[in-house]
Amino acid sequence: MARSRYFILFISFGFLLSCNKKLKTLTYNASEKIDEIAMVRSDKKERCDCLDPNNYIPDARFPQFDDIKYIRVNFHYPNASDSSYNFVREEAVIYSKGLLQSGNNKLKKNKKMNLPEGNDTPVYDAGYRYLLQKDPTTTTGYAVYEDIDDENWYFIKKGKNKNNYSRTVIKKFARNDDTILNIFAMAYPPDSIGRKGFSSGRAGIALGNSLKIAGIRKYGVNGAWRFSALMNHEIGHVYGLRHSWYKNDGCDDTPPNPNCWGSKKEGPCAGVTSNNMMDYNNQQIAITPCQIGMVKKSMHRESGKARKLLVKDWCEYDANKSLIISEDLQLDRAIDMKGDIIIEANASLRLSCRVHMPKGGKIIVQPGATLILNGCKIHNDCGESWGGIEVQSKGKVSGKIEYLGRVTIDNLPDNL
Ligand SMILES: [Zn+2]
Repeated sequence: MARSRYFILFISFGFLLSCNKKLKTLTYNASEKIDEIAMVRSDKKERCDCLDPNNYIPDARFPQFDDIKYIRVNFHYPNASDSSYNFVREEAVIYSKGLLQSGNNKLKKNKKMNLPEGNDTPVYDAGYRYLLQKDPTTTTGYAVYEDIDDENWYFIKKGKNKNNYSRTVIKKFARNDDTILNIFAMAYPPDSIGRKGFSSGRAGIALGNSLKIAGIRKYGVNGAWRFSALMNHEIGHVYGLRHSWYKNDGCDDTPPNPNCWGSKKEGPCAGVTSNNMMDYNNQQIAITPCQIGMVKKSMHRESGKARKLLVKDWCEYDANKSLIISEDLQLDRAIDMKGDIIIEANASLRLSCRVHMPKGGKIIVQPGATLILNGCKIHNDCGESWGGIEVQSKGKVSGKIEYLGRVTIDNLPDNL
C-alpha cells in the first residue's frame, strides 16, 4: 500500500518536472544569424527538379499553398470605323463575361479523361481562373476595348491574306500586357465567308501574353460558351501546355492519339476519342494532373512572364493559411505561402525550391523538429519583409536547421 503511494507520488513529480520545462522561442530575422545557427550538412544541394510538372500536381493534404490562382484578363474587339463587324459597348462586355464564366466553369468542373480507355487518371479542379479587369476610362467601366482599325480588324487563317500569326493588332492595341492577358476576340472578313474553301469555324492562336480567337460573331452574343474551350486551350499555351496528341508534350497522362475532332464509325477515329483540352476535338474539357502541374509550374516561376499576369494575392498574412507539417516531407516545388509554416516535433521539412513567405509570416521549428534548407530560396515576393525563422526549444530538445548547398534567405527585417 505504502509502496504504491510512493509510486503515484513519483509519477506525479516526474509529470510536474516535465511540465516545468518551459518552451523557449528564438526568432532569427537576419540571414547571417540563420547561417550561424544552421548545421551545414553538405555544401552540395541534393538533386531536385523544381521544374518537374509532376511536383506541382494538386495534393489534397496541402491546400494551404495551392489556392486558386487568378489570371487578369482584358478583351479587345477589333472593328472597322463603321463599327459594324464586331460586338460593341455592353454587348462586348456581356460576351466577355459569358466567355470567362464558361471557361472558368470548365476549369472548375474538370472532366475525366477519355483516353487511354479504362484509365483511372484522377480529376482535379484545374486550380486557376480568369478575372476580367476593370477600367474606369471606358464607358462600361470594364477593360473591354473596341479597337478601330480598318486594315487589321479581321482574322484570316488561310490563303494569301492570312494574318493569324500577325502581331499587328496586338502591337497596336494591347494594354498592360506585362500584367494582363490580352484577349483579341476577332471576326472573319464578310467577303471571305461563304467563299469556297473558307472555314468560318472557331480558330485561335496564342502569341506571347496575348491571344486571338476568331469567328466569334457566328453564334451571336449569347454564344460565347461555344468559344470557351478554345480560349482555355489558347491560355493553356500561354502557361506552357503543348498539344497533347504528340508524344513529347511533357506529360505521361496524355496519351498520343490521332487527334480526332470526334468519333467516327470507322478509321483511326473509330471508338473512343480524346476530350483533352490540348487536343483538337469537339469537347476540350479534360485537363490532366500533369497538365495542371505544368500550368502551376509556370505560375510559380519567379521570373516567368506568365506569373506576372496573376493577381498577386499572396502578399498579406493570413493565419488560416498556415501549413502544419506533422510528418517528414520533401517539398520539391516552389510555393507561395499565405500563412506560417509550422514544423511539429519529430517531423522534418525539406525545402529545395523557391518559397515565398507573406508579410510577417514565420517558419516555426518546434522542439525536436528539423527544417532542411536544400539549396532553396526563401523570400517575400511582394517587396516587404517576412517574419524569419522561429526556433523553439524545451529543456535539451531544440528545433534544428540544416543546410545543404547554397541557401538564399532574402527580405528579412534585419537585412532590409
Ligand atoms: Zn493549340
